[in-house]
Amino acid sequence: MNADEFRVYGKQLIDYIADYLENIRIRKVFPNDKKPGFLRELIPGSAPIDGEAWPNILQDVEDIILPGITHWQSPHMHAYFPALTSYPSMLGDMLSNAINAVGFTWASSPASTELEIIVMNWLGKMIGLPDDFLLLNNDSKGGGVIQTTASEATLTCLFAGRARMIKRYEKKIAEFDPAELNARLVAYCSNQAHSSVEKAGLIGLVKTRLLEPDNNLSLRGETLLKAIKKDRENGLIPFWVCATLGSTGACSFDNLAEISAVCASENVWLHVDAAYAGSAFICPEFRIWLKGIDKADSIAFNPSKWLLVHFDCTAMWIKDSTALHSSFVVNPLYLQHDNSGLAVDYMGVRLARKFELLVLSDKRFEIPAARHLGLVTFRLKGENALTEELLKRTNSRGNIHCVPAALPGDIYIIRFTVTSQYTTVEDIVKDWHEIKIVADQILREVEY
Ligand code: PLP
Repeated sequence: MNADEFRVYGKQLIDYIADYLENIRIRKVFPNDKKPGFLRELIPGSAPIDGEAWPNILQDVEDIILPGITHWQSPHMHAYFPALTSYPSMLGDMLSNAINAVGFTWASSPASTELEIIVMNWLGKMIGLPDDFLLLNNDSKGGGVIQTTASEATLTCLFAGRARMIKRYEKKIAEFDPAELNARLVAYCSNQAHSSVEKAGLIGLVKTRLLEPDNNLSLRGETLLKAIKKDRENGLIPFWVCATLGSTGACSFDNLAEISAVCASENVWLHVDAAYAGSAFICPEFRIWLKGIDKADSIAFNPSKWLLVHFDCTAMWIKDSTALHSSFVVNPLYLQHDNSGLAVDYMGVRLARKFELLVLSDKRFEIPAARHLGLVTFRLKGENALTEELLKRTNSRGNIHCVPAALPGDIYIIRFTVTSQYTTVEDIVKDWHEIKIVADQILREVEY
């Protein structure tokens, strides 16, 4: 493709994208008619020898790929958490793809690093982070950095916490063996934390304790303190805690104020995983959940979930960036440079409330966990099997799409998240109607 063809096809593609998004509501949100392996029958097993003309490729996307896509931008997408995109985000990506500067160090592309620092400061200020997390001048130890995912941010911060603890022991013990110390390290999180926290522990070869939250699914300081003390008594070394603000299952919030006080007094690293809820902290009324952040060591959230920035984009801040550097430091000649100076609608919530009111108006349903932000958990009263059947049948109709989760006590729930910027009150009412049709069917069958 030459530049002239790129100009023509590029403009056509922009029209195609705008048409796709403007007409997203007429596409079936979930490809319920597709079976695993369906694409193999439609696409050759080997790449073609001769290139295809772009118009044919785009036609294949429309005819072959899109019918098998889950349309995450659909107003009827209520599964997982949002993955919003926007026209400015797409244009920005197009431009950065064209520039394609690989900014792994300041010297490899100076403006890339500087822009990242500035924008991460903006974003940190927008969600009310203390200045310690920002890179404001040459004396700042903190700063933000973009990661691909919240899972990666968690793993990175676990490594940083580990490096800090290893350094502490290195100074104290003459014949120090990092592997022996690693085997004694313990990490902590709520049993409601995202699976990526446990996975980070597995990758880091450290023990991870999944602690029991209270009745509001909130991990409390006292529970954490007890676990830490018990491990210390057994000769283990508590080194890292992950508090979740906005859990994946039910959007519950750990008690950051209490947890951060325990972490500060016990001298363990505190990472805050606010993957979904972090965007909400732009609104001061939601910052109540951030109380205690001043004592945390790191925090991450996903602008790619709720800030109209397409996947993937995680914003991560750390108070002491030297801990991060020391856990990953390598310094080959080709990466060295002069490091002097600074080289280095809120839609959703209201619609979820609407859905919550609709669920509460029907006595056959219950909401087992308090609604926070844009996530409502609900189930049919009674056996889990009823709700399982409700989800299976609703999703198989392909008009709305939700996913399940399990709450403590083996309570099967359906998660209903308002994920799309195109969702309207009318869509919510229509989706609730869809759920009720299936519930009517199931409960009628049970009666007979
Ligand atoms: N943490 C929480 C609380 C989440 O809800 C999620 C995903 O929804 C993640 C982490 C994982 O996010 P990512 O896909 O960016 O790794």
